[in-house]
Amino acid sequence: MKKPFYHDAILATCQHKHLSVDEIFFSLKKEHPQIGIATVYRNIKTLTEQWKLIKVPVWNSWDRYEVACEDHAHIINAHGEIHDVTIPEDLLKQLHSLVEGKIEKLELNFYVS
Ligand SMILES: [Zn+2]
Repeated sequence: MKKPFYHDAILATCQHKHLSVDEIFFSLKKEHPQIGIATVYRNIKTLTEQWKLIKVPVWNSWDRYEVACEDHAHIINAHGEIHDVTIPEDLLKQLHSLVEGKIEKLELNFYVS
């Protein structure tokens, strides 16, 4: 039997949100009671490797995941709250000028106390 995949369900759950694996797991469990935490981890790992999900490491807490969308920065405070901020266009241009080739993925996280 083919193993069920939950890529679409995970991507739908993490749309415009920053969620921990546990939060994703409990959200999916409502519609898929049979799902196990190991399956969720495995699906998240694959989606992250495919750059469909972005991992946001958080201070003193679990990593969070969000659906990859337009480049934006994160401000993460000591309470583990994550705020999206738009990267100014000229800063983005400067960052792109630092590297040769096309930037496939850009992560900019600020950890503030
Ligand atoms: Zn974000």
